[in-house]
Amino acid sequence: MYELKITSQFAAAHQLREIRGGCENLHGHNWKIEVCVQGNTLGNDGLLIDFRVIKGETKKIIDELDHKFLNELASFENIEPSSENISRHIFESLSQRLNTENVKISKVTAWESDSACASYWIAD
Ligand SMILES: [Zn+2]
Repeated sequence: MYELKITSQFAAAHQLREIRGGCENLHGHNWKIEVCVQGNTLGNDGLLIDFRVIKGETKKIIDELDHKFLNELASFENIEPSSENISRHIFESLSQRLNTENVKISKVTAWESDSACASYWIAD
């Protein structure tokens, strides 16, 4: 099995309505996003998938979040824009765009600070 990982980042604001203790107040994070891709078979070029393709598709999704108030986006209309739900949103959007027979998005992690992150993946 091969695994590729790229990182990206965006800055945005959110407000978590259900949580008491600071996160219910409007505030921002510089989120760092890690995207992992797995597959068993390389192409004739020796690549699982070109890093530029993963980065390019990730950027399209992240550009929709960058410098936004996440609570106001359609993607988070009915769910809290937590790091958990951000990682799931990016995972599902990227899977739709990139998954093939041989290549699958395996995990997306959203770091909301240097010491706290949430990941989403589909358990076997
Ligand atoms: Zn927060």
